[in-house]
Amino acid sequence: MDADVIVVGAGLAGLVAAHELTSRGRRVALVDQENAANLGGQAFWSFGGLFLVDSPEQRRLGVKDSLDLAWNDWQGSAGFDRLDDEDSWAVRWARAYVEFAAGEKRVWLEGHGIKLLPTVGWAERGDLRADGHGNSVPRFHIAWGTGTGVVEPFVRYARQAARDGLLTFLHRHRVDELVLEQGAARGVRGTVLAPDDAPRGVAASRGAVGTFELPAQAVIVPSGGTGAAHDVVRRHWPARLGTPPARMVTGVPAYVDGRMLDISARAGVRLVNRDRMWHYTEGVRNWDPVWPGHGIRILPGPSSMWFDALGRRLPDPCLPGYDTLGTLRHLRTTEDIAGYDHSWFVLSRRIVEKEFALSGSEQNPDITAKDRRAVLRDRVLGKGAPGPVQAFLDRGADFVVADTLEWLVEKMNGLTDEPLLDADLMRRQIRARDLQIDNPYAKDAQVQGIRNARRYLGDRLGRVAAPHRILDPAAGPLIGVKLHVLTRKTLGGIQTDLDSRALGADGTPVDGLYAAGEVAGFGGGGVHGYNALEGTFLGGCLFSGRAAGRAAAQQTA
Ligand SMILES: Cc1cc2nc3c(=O)[nH]c(=O)nc-3n(C[C@H](O)[C@H](O)[C@H](O)COP(=O)(O)OP(=O)(O)OC[C@H]3O[C@@H](n4cnc5c(N)ncnc54)[C@H](O)[C@@H]3O)c2cc1C
Repeated sequence: MDADVIVVGAGLAGLVAAHELTSRGRRVALVDQENAANLGGQAFWSFGGLFLVDSPEQRRLGVKDSLDLAWNDWQGSAGFDRLDDEDSWAVRWARAYVEFAAGEKRVWLEGHGIKLLPTVGWAERGDLRADGHGNSVPRFHIAWGTGTGVVEPFVRYARQAARDGLLTFLHRHRVDELVLEQGAARGVRGTVLAPDDAPRGVAASRGAVGTFELPAQAVIVPSGGTGAAHDVVRRHWPARLGTPPARMVTGVPAYVDGRMLDISARAGVRLVNRDRMWHYTEGVRNWDPVWPGHGIRILPGPSSMWFDALGRRLPDPCLPGYDTLGTLRHLRTTEDIAGYDHSWFVLSRRIVEKEFALSGSEQNPDITAKDRRAVLRDRVLGKGAPGPVQAFLDRGADFVVADTLEWLVEKMNGLTDEPLLDADLMRRQIRARDLQIDNPYAKDAQVQGIRNARRYLGDRLGRVAAPHRILDPAAGPLIGVKLHVLTRKTLGGIQTDLDSRALGADGTPVDGLYAAGEVAGFGGGGVHGYNALEGTFLGGCLFSGRAAGRAAAQQTA
């Protein structure tokens, strides 16, 4: 088939771009190194959290949000400080994206049949400063069907376009080179990989059976980030985050390998903000791994106590669900703990039951399957921890449970090479925190935060345990969770203009070349700046993939 446009990557951004093209009658070659089972890329595995501003869901829960407030939060989080250079397009993308999230986004999602849960989560509560990082209000809307539901319509459109003869799937085709003619992108070259019927997400072989070359008038690169390539993560790890851990768990499938970034650079494309990345500090080893080193991120409520490897409570704002990179920075730059790769949550059974959620579509099978009855049974009426959380309590290598603190600490010490934790020290800190619980006000910032959270209806009903003493036996048993750094998102990448045109070294667009999704820093080469507000990655793929598809369709008209 002769393609008008080649799309390199069949993740969410690529599928959205392909839909924009085929719905305008363009012929698309959709090329991916993985097999057909992996259609949809990371988005299929994602939790489906979507950042929206001033939505009906927020309003129903009494949240007063606005474009002004969201833009203030975005700027405080992003901290754009390369405005004349690497952030020059990122900041424009940021403004356009926040306007999209406060305006057209919800209707556009609805138009594709994507519905939202009535609850709105409060992710990245921030660094405790009005002009600093974080969401002033809850904005994390979960798609009905999780990320699997977000990607589903675009998979359906692609399959229909293939039946209509407008789209050709080229699975197991790995692009190794962008072909440029007189400075214009005119095709790709690569390797045909051996057939491999590995199930979705499982690392497939890289054995080659041939080569290929495809011509087209334009090429879109939506090839994802670098989260599975720990060597690449380490290479770009910024000094401000200290030293990278010797061992990390991996929050993305192996195909999130970042190769296309270097391939694009070799074609003259400008890569920016590569030192910006988004890794989580609440990763646990998956007891039932799909991809190599598979880690799951705990989406914590605000009540667990957080301790470093030596058993000292983390300082504010290193609180669960507040400031992801602030916590990472603390763990990696504090001299006497930077040599250890882990930290700890200590909590009660009451907290785990109400507050623990796990990120990922497969960890939320009720929402992913759009099974209303199961959601009601397990999350609203059910007693005890949700099934997937209970499975980690029972089988997760990083979870220990005990009736007394001394016993718990002994078990926690059993999970490290040397016994680093002292039960007396931990008891003193937990007791001091517990003494703050009896009054409706307190001097402890975390306890204040719990009470603040419970003034929001969504948190009180579904997400934040009633304040109680962690050492109260009635709230027990006690739980300890060993936390690892989990690699996930790449915040920088290919610099693009607002039409998702890839820019060259001189800052002007490379004719016929576009980039979208994570490889483009979710737009502009880093729409998030230094910090994300969460739920902004899927949306960034939708928004930048749409822009790329529309612009490429116009170019090839
Ligand atoms: C478990 C999990 C939970 C998440 N939860 C959320 C959430 O709640 N909210 C949110 O906003 N975001 C979330 N994310 C992040 C979000 O899912 C991703 O950032 C987004 O889906 C990336 O999409 P993409 O299209 O840019 O890239 P990808 O999905 O990575 O797709 C890129 C595709 O390109 C292919 N490719 C790469 N290189 C080549 C090459 N050289 N040749 C051919 N093909 C190539 C890959 O095989 C892949 O199929 C989550 C991610 C994970 C893994």
